[in-house]
Amino acid sequence: MKLHNLIFLGMLAGVAVGFGLWQVAEVAAKSGTAPPAWHGPVLWTLDLLGPTLFMGLLRMIIAPLILASIVAGVTSLPNLRQLGSIGWKTLVYYMLTTTLAVGIGLAAVLIIRPGERPASQEARDRALSEQSTLRERYADISGQRALDGAGTPRPEYVAWLRGQRQLAGAEGSRYEAQQRAIRAAEQRTPGEIFINDILAPMLSNPFAALADTNALGIICFALLLGIACSFVGAPAQPVVQFFQGLNGVIMQITQWLMSVSPIAIACIVAKLVADTGPSVFVSLGWYCATVIGGIGLHILLLLAICALVGRIGPRRLWQGLREAYMIAFSTRSSAATLPVTINCVTRKLGVSPKVANFSLPLGATMNMDGTALYEGVAIIFLIQIFGGLDDVQITMTAMTTLLIFITAVLASVGAAAVPNAGLVTMVIVANAVNLPIYYIPLIFAVDAVLDMFRTSTNVLGDAVGAIVVDRLEHGSSGPPLA
Ligand code: ASP
Repeated sequence: MKLHNLIFLGMLAGVAVGFGLWQVAEVAAKSGTAPPAWHGPVLWTLDLLGPTLFMGLLRMIIAPLILASIVAGVTSLPNLRQLGSIGWKTLVYYMLTTTLAVGIGLAAVLIIRPGERPASQEARDRALSEQSTLRERYADISGQRALDGAGTPRPEYVAWLRGQRQLAGAEGSRYEAQQRAIRAAEQRTPGEIFINDILAPMLSNPFAALADTNALGIICFALLLGIACSFVGAPAQPVVQFFQGLNGVIMQITQWLMSVSPIAIACIVAKLVADTGPSVFVSLGWYCATVIGGIGLHILLLLAICALVGRIGPRRLWQGLREAYMIAFSTRSSAATLPVTINCVTRKLGVSPKVANFSLPLGATMNMDGTALYEGVAIIFLIQIFGGLDDVQITMTAMTTLLIFITAVLASVGAAAVPNAGLVTMVIVANAVNLPIYYIPLIFAVDAVLDMFRTSTNVLGDAVGAIVVDRLEHGSSGPPLA
C-alpha cells in the first residue's frame, strides 16, 4: 500500500483507538471507579511512540536541516542577484497571503458571530465560575484589579497574596520574579520589543541558536554563511560541499522517518483524542466552525493562486503534498514537518531545490496563514463572548479591528512552529486591545484540534509559496513543474 494511504489509515485508527480509550475513562469516571489497569500503560505507550519518539526524532533534525538547507540553497545560486530576487518575491508572497488570511478570518468571525450563540454564552458562564481563581492570579500580573481606585492594594488581594506566598514557600521568590518579568514585558515599548524579541534572537551565537532551535537565529547565520561562501569562491568549496552533503544526509533520515510515520501518527492522534474527548466541541462548536470554515476559504484561495500563478492544479498539488499535509495535521508542528515538506516539494512537485531550500525553512518560521487567521478569529470571539463585563469594555470599532488585524499578522510571524504556539502569541493581540489574558483559557480545550487545521494550512501556504516563487523565477521558459 502507498505511504499516504497508510498515513490516512493511521489517522483513522488513531481516532478510533483514542475515542475508545476516552470512552473507557469516561465510563469509569461516571461510575466513580478507576479506569482498568491496562488503560494507563496503553496511554503511556502511545505517548512514547508518537509524541515522544517520532516527534522527538523530527525535532532532532530541524536545526541542522535549516542550517544545511539554507547554506546549500544560497550557495547553489549562480549569483547573489538571484538570491535577492527569490528573497523579495518570497517575502511579498508571505505578506500578501498572511494579510488575506487575517482578512478572511475577521470577515468570518464578524459575520458568523460565534460568541453570541447560546451555546457559547453557556460556556462563558461555566468558565467564569471556574476561572475565579485564575482571574485573581492574573489580576496580580496586570496590577489593575489588585488596586482600588486610589491605587491602594485591595484587602482581599493582600490576603490572597499572603496566602500565595505561604503556599508557595520556596517557590515564592521564583513566582514573584515571574510576575516582575511579565509586568516588565507588558511595559516595554515597541522599540524595545523589536530589539529584544526580533533583533537579538536573529543575531545570537549560531551554536546557541542551534542548541535552542532558534529558527530566526539559524536562518540569519545560514544566510550570512552562504553569502560569504559565494564571495570567497573556490577556497570555500569544502564548506559548501559539507553543507550540501549534510542536507542530503538529513533528507535520508527524513525518508526513514516517513516510512514509520503511519504508526507514529496513529499513536499521536490516539493520544490526543483520548486526552480531549468530543464533549468540548459542543459548547465551542460555533467557534471551531468559524475557524475551520475560514481556513477552508483560505485553502481555496491558495489553491487558486497555485493553479493560476504556479500552474499546478489542486489534484497534482494534493498528490505531491499529501504526506506533508497529513504529517503537519497530526504533529501540529510546521518545523517538525519541514523535512517532509522539502522532500515533497522538491521531489514530487518538481520545485528547484534552489528555491525550496531557501523559502521553505523561512516559511516554516515566519509564514503562518492558518495561525494568523486563527489569532483574529479567537480574539474577536473572546470579545464577543466576554464583552461588556466590567473588565472587558471593548467596542469593536474600525480602529480596534485594524489593531487586531496588524497584531494578528505580527503574532503569526512571532509564533514558533511548534504545537500550540499560536495560543501563546495571542497574548500580543489580547494586550493590544486590552483584553485581560485570563479570559484566553476558555479556548484551551479545543486548541489542539484547531492547531491541526492551522498547522496544515501553514505548511500548504509555504509549499504554494515555493511553487509560485519557483515559477516566477523560471518563467514559462523554465523547467516544467511536475
Ligand atoms: N502549530 C503551528 C505550527 O507549527 C503554530 C500554531 O500554534 O499556530 O505551524
